[in-house]
Amino acid sequence: MSVQEYISANAGGFFAALKEWIAIPSVSGDPALAGEVARSARWLARHLRDTGLPTAEIWETPGLPAVFAEWPAQDPRAPAVLVYGHHDVQPVTPLEEWQVPPFAPVDRNGQLTGRGASDDKGQVLFHALGLRANLAASGAGAPPVTIKLLIEGEEESGSLHFAGLLRENLERLRCDAIVVSDGPMWSRDVPSICIGTRGLVSAEISLDGPAVDLHSGAFGGGVPNPAHALVRMLGGLHDQRQRVTLPGFYDDVAPMTERERELFARLPFNEGEWLATAGGSQAAYGEHGFSTLERIWSRPTAEINGIWAGHTGPGRKTIVPRSAHAKVSLRLVPGQDPAKISQSLRDYVASHTPPGIRAHVELHGPGARPCSVPIDSPAVQAAQRAMERAFGTEVLFTRAGGSGPEAGLAEALGAPLVFIGVGLDDDNAHAPNEKAEMPLLLKGAETAAYLWDELAATLARGQP
Ligand SMILES: [Zn+2]
Repeated sequence: MSVQEYISANAGGFFAALKEWIAIPSVSGDPALAGEVARSARWLARHLRDTGLPTAEIWETPGLPAVFAEWPAQDPRAPAVLVYGHHDVQPVTPLEEWQVPPFAPVDRNGQLTGRGASDDKGQVLFHALGLRANLAASGAGAPPVTIKLLIEGEEESGSLHFAGLLRENLERLRCDAIVVSDGPMWSRDVPSICIGTRGLVSAEISLDGPAVDLHSGAFGGGVPNPAHALVRMLGGLHDQRQRVTLPGFYDDVAPMTERERELFARLPFNEGEWLATAGGSQAAYGEHGFSTLERIWSRPTAEINGIWAGHTGPGRKTIVPRSAHAKVSLRLVPGQDPAKISQSLRDYVASHTPPGIRAHVELHGPGARPCSVPIDSPAVQAAQRAMERAFGTEVLFTRAGGSGPEAGLAEALGAPLVFIGVGLDDDNAHAPNEKAEMPLLLKGAETAAYLWDELAATLARGQP
């Protein structure tokens, strides 16, 4: 039986199981649903045992549980591959905007709608189907590489205990490559592999002046105004060419390679359509000398997320406000270190704070590291071949502008990452009416089925 035959013969059972899993409301951000996240972990462990994996365990954390499963390769010298994903989901508010109840999934016209259909239950579960298809095609009793799965339960609420989980279980998680299936490809017709994500530093800046709001007639013009200081500070974050002015901000930025620029330029990108998805923005804008895709994928940025100060209610209140505040986020690219950039932000704020104002920078955690996967690494090449076999067309490369726990995972395990995602940007991940394209989930399973043979052949040569 071929991989394709196995997958089409078992598609019905696959989607029935996926619906059952989606029906469990495993929202990690809602403490009232912690029991449901645990139930989701148990459901997955049982499903993986039913799939044939000899080991499928719940791994408890001080927060919400992860699932670990393993199927050793027939050949003990074969490489090991770890599949990472998550079984928790985003909250479903605003509920009134859903066309179907988020935890009563519905399939219609090849789309499966429900929270987690794409992010990430659908993309975790296709690995189980792909693994069975691989074995059905080979007739072997065990996979060609040792397959491990680590499916965490806190990804949508910041992966708080994930680093600890990795540290405690390093030995069992040891692997030669990490496969991440938790993201989109370029479009329905253009399969692609993501080769990097941006890092993140975010912070709240507060400037304090007088101990109370002051009468702007009696004191205005005679004392420093925190709101003026803040807008000058934020206004100076970019220069005329839209480069970020934090000291040393670009020192460690890895420049884009010609190959990367050329590959991005080959993606069928329509700026008008993209602007429509950008909330109907009326113009593309950003750092001079770079295309839109380069700006959002491969260049670091600084954004003001919110600003507040003084009187913002109805009517007038003529004051010099006592304080002013802003939230800012910095997206980082390969080479940049969140700790170093955090210090650079502190230095910038300190040097732009006028006399008589006190500044305070509160970082939102340690930040996320950027991650980058070399296109020509054997693991990525193997993934590209597997995906091309499944889709029957050329596979291109993308990056992601957002940030995730993947860089920390690769660093902790010392193994290269491979992103195989079959979601779409319009899947409404994190929004009402999340859906997955059912044919693409099956293509994901097919890709996964081929991937294990491709990786066995590639990684066995000892050059992960
Ligand atoms: Zn996800």
